[in-house]
Amino acid sequence: MTTPDPALDLAPDMVVDPAVEAHLAATREARLASYFELLRIPSVSTLPEHAGDMRAAAAWIAAELARIGFEHAEASPTPGHPVVYADWLHAEGAPTVIVYCHYDVQPVDPIELWETAPFEPFVRDGRVIGRGSADDKGQLHMHLRAAEALFATRGRLPLNLRVVFEGEEEASSSSMPGWLEANRHRLAADVVAVTDTGFFEGNIPAITESLRGILYTQIDVSGPPTDVHSGSYGGNVENPANALARIIAELKDRNGLVQVPGFYDDVVPVDPAVRARLAALPFDEAAYLARIGVPALAGEAAYTVLEREGARPTLDVNGIWGGFQGDGAKTIIPAHAHAKVSMRLVANQDPLRLFELFRAHVLEIAPPGVRVEVQRLGTGRPVSTSVDQPLVRAVAKALQATFGREPVFMRSGGSIPIAEMFEQQLGLPVVLMGFTNPDDNAHAPNESMVLANYETGIRTICLLWDMLGRDGLE
Ligand SMILES: [Zn+2]
Repeated sequence: MTTPDPALDLAPDMVVDPAVEAHLAATREARLASYFELLRIPSVSTLPEHAGDMRAAAAWIAAELARIGFEHAEASPTPGHPVVYADWLHAEGAPTVIVYCHYDVQPVDPIELWETAPFEPFVRDGRVIGRGSADDKGQLHMHLRAAEALFATRGRLPLNLRVVFEGEEEASSSSMPGWLEANRHRLAADVVAVTDTGFFEGNIPAITESLRGILYTQIDVSGPPTDVHSGSYGGNVENPANALARIIAELKDRNGLVQVPGFYDDVVPVDPAVRARLAALPFDEAAYLARIGVPALAGEAAYTVLEREGARPTLDVNGIWGGFQGDGAKTIIPAHAHAKVSMRLVANQDPLRLFELFRAHVLEIAPPGVRVEVQRLGTGRPVSTSVDQPLVRAVAKALQATFGREPVFMRSGGSIPIAEMFEQQLGLPVVLMGFTNPDDNAHAPNESMVLANYETGIRTICLLWDMLGRDGLE
């Protein structure tokens, strides 16, 4: 994987600078030691007992950035965990790129499924295993080492970089809107490179061209003030659980179409070029089915699996509760019933407008005899990057030159709130450029990063910065 296909016949300006390559080859062991040092800090953002570790991780990264050659490196305070910021802005006439990664990690539960201690990284079968090895400390570390290689060999960078390393990505990025607003003055840039995504199935180099948005809601249905006897009142009193079930059943039809009036009004039809790119992906539906472990797939018949995931909106119940949950029987009409319902959105759906439509529809179809309330718990807009964006084209070229194969374009069904914030709050284009292997077990036990992805990805970043410094964002 590290040797480009000779058939590519790369132009001399499309290979990693030999001096940079020599530096990287000579510092491999120290690089791994430093990577492990970062992974050993248990930077779990959501658990209060790790607040000190979060500060330690932020301080470690800020010190590294300063040592490497960045300026203004600091662990910038927020109401939550610090944001690590640094910049280097002396490449006159060259583009300015914001690099975003996050240094917080997911909790390690269930700990018993880890083969070794999550914060004691080690290498096995060409992979670094440990919490954060891939998501996202591994990728953050790649950016540190790429910049270090350029500074060490030339004393400068070929372009202007601003580094924004967040500490609350796994905690909904809740301090980021405020931090971006307060730091607007030092976030002027041409484009944001978010490095928190990865490759396609089979470890094929990939660029993520879109993320879905989200609207998260809760439906609360209440009836009598307390549970009542279902023998005495059944047949006369509307049952909140029955009522909730009826509401939910009417939200989506059997073909997977959301029934909320106006839901599809702003949906951009799936472009033929998008269809073609998705159809060209080496996607194995049988393996997908086997991996999930369900008897059959469901969804809109007019679309393929990848189109449904990346280019169509949907609606799902994420949780449902109410009434008697214990063993055996208890004959009641429950006082209340609830459901968490979320919608994944695509361009150009507006989550705030959709919430009003959703709420109005739920209230409209609610039977009389119960009170229904609909709460909005969270929103995020869909994000997409044009495949013709100059940075996307440059990333594609750099990936091809270093990994030896043309990258594919993926559309992610998930959401990365920070990408939307950069786009909406700062008005900057966002490019999703990541290097993790798809079987990295991110958020799960035995998280791992393929070392070849890590090593080659550092070369990709070095080459990319050189290309942008030379050619600009054209
Ligand atoms: Zn991540």
